[in-house]
Amino acid sequence: MSALRDPAADGRFGEFGGHFVPEVLVPVCAELDTAFRDAWADPSFRGEYLAVLRDFGGRPTPLTECARLSESLGVRVLLKREDLLHTGSHKLNNVVGQGLLARRMGKRRLIAETGAGQHGVATATAAALFGLECTVFMGEVDTRRQQLNVFRMELLGATVRTVTSGSQTLKDAVNEAMREWVTCVDDTHYCLGSAMGPHPFPWMVREFQRVIGDESRCQLVDRGIETPDVVVACVGGGSNAIGLFSGFIDTDARLVGVEASGGAAIGAGTPGVLHGMRSMLLQDADGQILEAHSISAGLDYPGVGPEHAYLAAIGRAEYPSANDDEVLDAVGMLARTEGIIAALESAHAVAWLLREAGRSIPTGSTVLLGLSGRGDKDMAHVAALLAERT
Ligand SMILES: *Cc1c(COP(=O)(O)O)cnc(C)c1O
Repeated sequence: MSALRDPAADGRFGEFGGHFVPEVLVPVCAELDTAFRDAWADPSFRGEYLAVLRDFGGRPTPLTECARLSESLGVRVLLKREDLLHTGSHKLNNVVGQGLLARRMGKRRLIAETGAGQHGVATATAAALFGLECTVFMGEVDTRRQQLNVFRMELLGATVRTVTSGSQTLKDAVNEAMREWVTCVDDTHYCLGSAMGPHPFPWMVREFQRVIGDESRCQLVDRGIETPDVVVACVGGGSNAIGLFSGFIDTDARLVGVEASGGAAIGAGTPGVLHGMRSMLLQDADGQILEAHSISAGLDYPGVGPEHAYLAAIGRAEYPSANDDEVLDAVGMLARTEGIIAALESAHAVAWLLREAGRSIPTGSTVLLGLSGRGDKDMAHVAALLAERT
């Protein structure tokens, strides 16, 4: 399957990307770039990565034809079921790749940032699997909101470090993880959670997630579908979407990344620099980063991966948003018609589909939708929101 092109050595995607990091991290990012290039070109590394995703993760994930939803919408809908991957979302693809790479580089410890705790749990899982130590940085506000995930991480043997700076949420956890990395680069790998941050992370994470798109492409071909008309996924930092898009970038499929309306970095942002990258960001006129607000913690990030900013700028992909109400409706609709409870993040893509079927998606189209995760983690939240409505 053909690929999105590799970024240049400076990690640029057009005017976006790059590596805006402190002096001490410049050689560290360069070392990581070299190590990843070397590993990714090594069939034994790729073989082990795929074997772990198969035997531990449960890949390949199914492609599910949605008969009842398709009938009611008048478009053929197929779901790529990352919700069925171990730990309940696509995040495992990335942490397995980075965990194996860290081990190959001789690191003995992983650090990570987490917002809702999902990436923290995934990283703690990979660390346990590969026998690495693990420290996860999490804003204090988030540790209170997500106590169950704090417990999960600790049960998996990780240490959760509470971040009390700034707004005490994801953005501050990333800052703190980067600060920690500077002090311990010799034995520690920073396992960043999305296709964002300084080069080589946006590219490396995309490559670890492209298994979603490559697998989908083969599964579609097996069903006689050469190219779907629409490929859609939700976008927080953008890793599940860029992984899915990777399998279809060389086709004429319409690529759609759905942002949360309160975290629409492409839809409502402007270019700037944050967390080591130049990308589209939610910021005020003075360049102060604004807080993202969304029903789904996994999309609560004021930036977006630079490759998405680039795909938007050149017009190859489009980035509409879905609001909280539409997303709640979408969770209910998919549950009732298909027996699948989606994560609130993933339901943004479903919400867009429900809104656009028969409008910008012509009747009779084929839609591939990336279902990035399962909704179990969100049930208490969804119940409370539905109760508020009545
Ligand atoms: C974390 C998460 C996301 C957002 O992350 P991306 O990097 O944008 O994919 C989306 N869906 C689920 C289920 C998640 O856990």
